[in-house]
Amino acid sequence: MTSKNKNYSRRDFFKTAGAAGAGAIIAPNILKAADKTESESSDNAIVTTRPFGKTGVSVPTLSLGGIFDIPANQIILNLAFKFGVTYWDTANMYGGGLSEEGVGIFFNKRPDVRKKIFLVTKSTSRDSEGMTEHLELSLKRMNTNYIDLYFLHSFGSMNELSDEVRKWAEKQKSKGKIKLFGFSTHKNMEKCMMGASKLNWIDGIMMSYNFRLMQKPEMKEAVQACFEKGIGLTAMKSQGGGSVKTETDTELKMAGRFIKQGFTPEQAKLKAVWEDNRISSICSLMTNSTILMANIAAALDRTSLATRDMDLLNQYACETSSDYCAGCGHICESAIKGKVPISDIMRHLMYHRSYGEKGSTETLDRKPAVNMKHMASLDFSLAEKKCPQKMAIGDLMKEAAEVLS
Ligand code: SF4
Repeated sequence: MTSKNKNYSRRDFFKTAGAAGAGAIIAPNILKAADKTESESSDNAIVTTRPFGKTGVSVPTLSLGGIFDIPANQIILNLAFKFGVTYWDTANMYGGGLSEEGVGIFFNKRPDVRKKIFLVTKSTSRDSEGMTEHLELSLKRMNTNYIDLYFLHSFGSMNELSDEVRKWAEKQKSKGKIKLFGFSTHKNMEKCMMGASKLNWIDGIMMSYNFRLMQKPEMKEAVQACFEKGIGLTAMKSQGGGSVKTETDTELKMAGRFIKQGFTPEQAKLKAVWEDNRISSICSLMTNSTILMANIAAALDRTSLATRDMDLLNQYACETSSDYCAGCGHICESAIKGKVPISDIMRHLMYHRSYGEKGSTETLDRKPAVNMKHMASLDFSLAEKKCPQKMAIGDLMKEAAEVLS
């Protein structure tokens, strides 16, 4: 060992492991299974399923988030199918349509597979004309005549669920173009979920949900209300703000414990969500086969997290709360009289930090129409006082104004 290597500390090791992402540990049996042809794949290498609420449908516990690059998504779709990751999530706007087109290319080559896939796509529109236009385009792009679950994308307030939307959903169901209907939400999730649980026409919800958010009393209540109502729940943003930064003792302790048990902190965060049987599936953006295989390995591994593991995740969530926007926009945005959609800007800043400048801020979500220069000049001190996560909102809005302009 060189003197340089001698100085390679435990901290450095976890930094390297973290940089490798969720793909740091893949069980050898999974790698062997990946080399087999589809017919040779053993049954125990298939991701298990759970009921999707009371819809009568079962879905795999891991679902594939939209991939924007067509050559990449052909490889990933094939691999996902092989391991039973047959819940595919996309959106009308992902990659400017490339995500849906990739699914269409796949179904064109493998029409026999369509009925085995639980296909989800979304519309950013909230009126019947716009939703019809988006739905027809999605059907055409994906070479299919029905969508298993159709979502309103980036839903943030019950005001968006008008009677027009309900009638539209019922009409499309009666025509057989959609089977189930609901929304995806990463803003005011708990309020939206509680609202939906009081209705009789929301079949499924995809919400931000992770080891941080699951600790919030209002989220616990919202999950239970939806579960009792029979609404199928899919967790997204399950990593709770990105990879472990290996900067605190808790992170090191946590990473050390997980690595000893044979999984990475990223895989442990997925497991923390799967511990809750009320959550049917985790939707994960898996942009390459290494991440996909690592997530599949985590889904196939039956090891449960111990109470101490959950305690450490909880402790880590508390210590790093000011790094994570919990999406409770109604709190900070009312403090500045709605002048800036802070929660949306925070999310786009997270996309920018996590996925780089390559357009992901626009391809994942509706980018808020905001005068960035004006935003940077506003006083956010009252919003900061009210923020339960104690985020440095003013500084973050200035950063967003610079990088998202
Ligand atoms: S900035 Fe704070 S109050 Fe605003 S949405 Fe994020 S966590 Fe909630």
